[in-house]
Amino acid sequence: MVDLLYTGRNANVRKSSMLVHLGLGSNLGDRHTLLRNARSALAEQLGEFRESPIYESAPLLGMDQPSYLNQVVCGTTTLEPLALLRLCQALEEQAGRVRTERWGARTLDIDVLSYGEQVLSLPELTVPHPELPNRAFVLLPLKDLTPDWVHPRTGQMLDELWAQWQACSAEPLPTQVSE
Ligand code: ATP
Ligand code: CA
Ligand code: CA
Repeated sequence: MVDLLYTGRNANVRKSSMLVHLGLGSNLGDRHTLLRNARSALAEQLGEFRESPIYESAPLLGMDQPSYLNQVVCGTTTLEPLALLRLCQALEEQAGRVRTERWGARTLDIDVLSYGEQVLSLPELTVPHPELPNRAFVLLPLKDLTPDWVHPRTGQMLDELWAQWQACSAEPLPTQVSE
């Protein structure tokens, strides 16, 4: 259980709630348990919580790492964007994530994929996540969860983004796995 300092009457909380998508990944340790724990913590924090199927995917750029389990979850929140990022980072820390090199293997990664229809470019947070269009392990579970989602910066629908990914990428497709 994450002890959240973010709730309450402060600048971290907004009046109306936002639909957000979060991308979960794990390739170290007991990946299924790490994802399950993250999901249940997020289900406590987000309203109308929903989760995609779980996918297994090869590490980025052919890196020499174990394969990943990936999942996308969505729900509503009154947390401001940076407070939501802090929540994600607190859960990563709780899962024992150690930051080594960029894109290194990790017990848990939680990216903020979308925050309502907002387009944000802050020093610590870019939303929608800049790599979203380039990652099959994000696009496929996003399509499963919210097929009508539209990228707020480019106006592209997920089917368009997926067609673009397929046209440009030779990477193997992530496969759905059961828990
Ligand atoms: P990638 O961002 O390419 O998926 P990563 O998840 O491995 O790589 P991290 O080491 O987890 O990268 O995060 C690096 C920094 O990215 C964080 O410190 C955070 O401030 C910043 N960041 C920017 N935009 C986002 C976002 N949308 N979600 C999560 N972190 C973000
Ligand atoms: Ca990531
Ligand atoms: Ca991350």
